Amino acid sequence: MSKPKSPQTIAASNGIGGDAAFGAVTPPLYLTSTFAFDGFEREGPYTYTRSANPTRDLLADTLAKLEGGAGAVVTASGMAAIDLVLSPLGPDDLILAPHDCYWGTYRLLAVRAEKGHFGVAFVDQSDELAMAVALESAPSLVLIETPSNPLMRVVDIASLAGLAHAEGAKVVVDNTFLSPALQRPISLGADFVVHSTTKYLNGHSDVVGGAVIAASADAAKALADWANITGVGGAPFDSYLTLRGLRTLFPRIEQQQRNAGAVATFLVGQPGVKAVHYPGLPNHPGHRIARRQQSGFGAMLSFELEGGAESVRAFLGALKVFVLAESLGGVESLVAHPQSMTHAGMSAEARQAAGIGAGLLRLSVGLEDQLDLLADLDQALQAIPSASAIENTIMSIN
Ligand SMILES: *Cc1c(COP(=O)(O)O)cnc(C)c1O
Repeated sequence: MSKPKSPQTIAASNGIGGDAAFGAVTPPLYLTSTFAFDGFEREGPYTYTRSANPTRDLLADTLAKLEGGAGAVVTASGMAAIDLVLSPLGPDDLILAPHDCYWGTYRLLAVRAEKGHFGVAFVDQSDELAMAVALESAPSLVLIETPSNPLMRVVDIASLAGLAHAEGAKVVVDNTFLSPALQRPISLGADFVVHSTTKYLNGHSDVVGGAVIAASADAAKALADWANITGVGGAPFDSYLTLRGLRTLFPRIEQQQRNAGAVATFLVGQPGVKAVHYPGLPNHPGHRIARRQQSGFGAMLSFELEGGAESVRAFLGALKVFVLAESLGGVESLVAHPQSMTHAGMSAEARQAAGIGAGLLRLSVGLEDQLDLLADLDQALQAIPSASAIENTIMSIN
């Protein structure tokens, strides 16, 4: 038997050179809704794109291999992927979710719980005692997001998966922030991995998509059946673009995390910067776990400016390379203000509990030249009026 291919080889070449019709090196895009039968009562390998499509199947196969799962379902968005993985649950089931999870996930869980589709409890998963108490209520499913958004808290997947399995719960890990290039939750005990492929996997901010990868073949089959029933599968064209982006996942994320490390180091100790949250910094509370369970620290970070909204306004107004936008994981550097953007729908109390204040900014570090990124941040920090300057202005107004 030949040696198993390395993940980087799978990302770059799964499906390449496999076209039987014309020998196209790049796998063709099957832009069709329906497929001809071989004859009366003789179905071909494909019948209808909602059920299955070769382009989408190639993306699912590539993602399953990269995550070390038995199978995958590609969906129309990350939210569709998370909803799909919740589909087996009923009113007697309880989900334990992180109190600082992705806001869209928080909203989905909260509205479905309100309708009685299942129960949900939001818990600080880095608090061992709170988690131990929550696990005593016999959850059916534990959702883990690590590193968390936007504060980059790190959760020990293997340890939490062990505790969850002992209580009979299934474990789902949202691996969007790192991608399988840097973290492989199934190897740490997860039953399912979910992705917003919108982010690092596609990597070019031109597609919205998602995926669920299952550790077991039976679970993958059940998810594929449900996706066919509800029609949440991803479009072939989106799958084609995502495959195209995925081929460069490893070199992109490698360079992006190198840039992110430099940005984090630069921000530490800058005047006006209160805190920097990046798991690659040795004093980050999750640094040791991240070292153990990740193969890199990723390209997402957040930091807090002194002076709240006024400083944020001046800083954002001065940035020239970083673009003020939601989303992450693309080749371009983005900055977001969670309080007014990604987490604006959250109640003020929930935001406070998750540690999201007025001065917090989140960065998705891209592929630009490192020196241009640092220079941009430097000049934007200098554009923030100092506390004494603000005081002087107030005095002169008076
Ligand atoms: C963006 C995101 C999602 C939702 O994905 P969409 O593709 O926007 O539907 C879920 N989880 C995390 C961590 C995300 O960043």
